[in-house]
Amino acid sequence: MDLNHQDHFHDECGVFGVFNHPEASNLTYLGLYALQHRGQESAGIVSVEERMFLATRGHGLVADVFRRNELDGLKGNQAIGHVRYSTSGGSINSRNRQPLVVDTAHGGMAMAHNGNLVNGVEMRRALERRGSIFQSTMDTEVIVHLTALSRCKTFAERLVEALGQVQGSYALLAMNEQCIIGARDPHGLRPLVLGRVGNKGYVFSSETCALNLIEAEFVRDVEPGEVVVIGPDGLESFFPFPREKRCLCVFEYIYFARPDSNIDGVNVYASRKRIGMRLAQEHPVPGADLVMPVPDSGVPAALGFAHASGLPFELGIIRNHYVGRTFIEPQQAIRHFGVKIKLNANRDIIQGKHVVLVDDSIVRGTTSRKIVKMVRAAGAKSVHLRISSPPTTHPCYYGIDTPTQSELLASSHTVEEMRTYVTADSLAFLSLDGMYAAVNGHKNGYCDACFSGRYPISFPRHEENAQLSLLHET
Ligand code: AMP
Ligand code: SF4
Repeated sequence: MDLNHQDHFHDECGVFGVFNHPEASNLTYLGLYALQHRGQESAGIVSVEERMFLATRGHGLVADVFRRNELDGLKGNQAIGHVRYSTSGGSINSRNRQPLVVDTAHGGMAMAHNGNLVNGVEMRRALERRGSIFQSTMDTEVIVHLTALSRCKTFAERLVEALGQVQGSYALLAMNEQCIIGARDPHGLRPLVLGRVGNKGYVFSSETCALNLIEAEFVRDVEPGEVVVIGPDGLESFFPFPREKRCLCVFEYIYFARPDSNIDGVNVYASRKRIGMRLAQEHPVPGADLVMPVPDSGVPAALGFAHASGLPFELGIIRNHYVGRTFIEPQQAIRHFGVKIKLNANRDIIQGKHVVLVDDSIVRGTTSRKIVKMVRAAGAKSVHLRISSPPTTHPCYYGIDTPTQSELLASSHTVEEMRTYVTADSLAFLSLDGMYAAVNGHKNGYCDACFSGRYPISFPRHEENAQLSLLHET
């Protein structure tokens, strides 16, 4: 299921940028459209024309934020854009919209960031003590200030100096009037790809699905720790930071990325289907009549499960695709209501059947509980919930929106206790080894902290608390 976890703390985002194309903003708009699943709360595009930075940022979905005349106003051959899934609860701070744009002693600069800095609060306090005045509560602004303060000669050097001072995850686009720089943190936690568009244009995107939409050619993934500068002299690539262990977020494959994207050469849909097959091997349901997904997130894994177990795949739950995510308010009561607005069980398919229900993850457990009850109310004889990831026991500090540890059902409940809570006849999760075997055949190079508690980048304990209170203010 796709939910609004709006009362949590970290940002999920998508970034997109186009360099050297006469329709840079239009292409960026389309790119953001394809990345909408990475953030539904706000969207923004900044373009540059003749040293002028032109920006449109707003609350809501890409299609609502940019009207024709706004897009027409975003002139120029280069643009960067951002979609954001804010974590700031009900009150939306309009200053927390990206891309950020500032004037510095070296000229204008815009920045769009997907990720989360684990030393963001500390750095912000240090900057504030030195007199910096922050416009927003986003940690991205820390990178903006550090870049503006740098005395290095070139824009790329200033950005590199800034990034050298922060820790955490970033897939970042930074733009001045002459170039766009794409950077990925040394662990490569968040994805970022590079493509070519038109005769001479370049494009950066969080995911490959956005390249397909604008008929851009995929060139390659930006490497962990790589800084790619695209400017009047063409493309230059640097690895200015000490080498770190590669740790791509494995949750991108489980839930977050769009199934038609490839990350690090691995197709997300195919990996989800393999995950479902593996789940069927690890936790079969003898005597089941059919396999059905919780749409949309459970669909590829349910297909794999059905395939591997020789059971029919049925769409026993239908999703209403016309409910905007922003429709649902963050209060607990309305979230429950939201499940019913979005999903409906198809009684004719379900009645009298032993059902395998597949979803990608259990976070708080509230959705699963509602859906299991819904399927039972539609006449299922039994409901066997299969989850295509290991139990989510730990929060993410690297840019995926999860609640605090105490709110994660799996952090304090055994599988049997979780089964009782969600009211399923049986409940089983994919093993960590099984997940890796299915995603890419090996364990190396991934972050799995939300499943294992092994965090690849440590964060000061006080940072965790400070982060929570800071972001609560937004
Ligand atoms: P819950 O009711 O809290 O257990 O929510 C579980 C559902 O949330 C699953 O169906 C997932 O598809 C979905 N989900 C998991 N992680 C996220 C996330 N970071 N943001 C939004 N939805 C998520
Ligand atoms: Fe991804 Fe989980 Fe690591 Fe966060 S903790 S980066 S969601 S794998």
